[in-house]
Amino acid sequence: MPEAESTGVRRLAGKCFCGAVHYEVDDKFVYAMNCHCSNCRRTTGSAFKPIAGIEREKLRLTAGGDRLLVFGDMDGNDTHCGQCGSLLFSVVREGAFVHVAMGTLIDDPGIRPGAHIFVGSKAPWFTITDDLPQYDGHFTG
Ligand SMILES: [Zn+2]
Ligand SMILES: [Zn+2]
Repeated sequence: MPEAESTGVRRLAGKCFCGAVHYEVDDKFVYAMNCHCSNCRRTTGSAFKPIAGIEREKLRLTAGGDRLLVFGDMDGNDTHCGQCGSLLFSVVREGAFVHVAMGTLIDDPGIRPGAHIFVGSKAPWFTITDDLPQYDGHFTG
């Protein structure tokens, strides 16, 4: 498991499908949830997207920072690998936070998704089978 040198904050590694882009993020996520909105479904091709939120400065690109495909602007975007297209994270909340696409983490984070959000627009072919709380729209914890 990766350990920070001096701060004692555990750092998690993540990467895209092809390996061109690597990042590291402090294991200090503020929240994590499964988003069922149509945007998250389309950007991932999945029933929902597990996201973990953290202050933007706590995520650093460690490789491939010049190979990104950024869809959006600097303060609100989906950041993909420009080579394989993996969605790595989204910059949200006027640039203050990033939502890490949890499927791109290599290491096991200390947080687990705690809710389903935007269940009001979830895919009709997908059934939620766990007992986590469900919200029709946003949930700000
Ligand atoms: Zn890639
Ligand atoms: Zn979403």
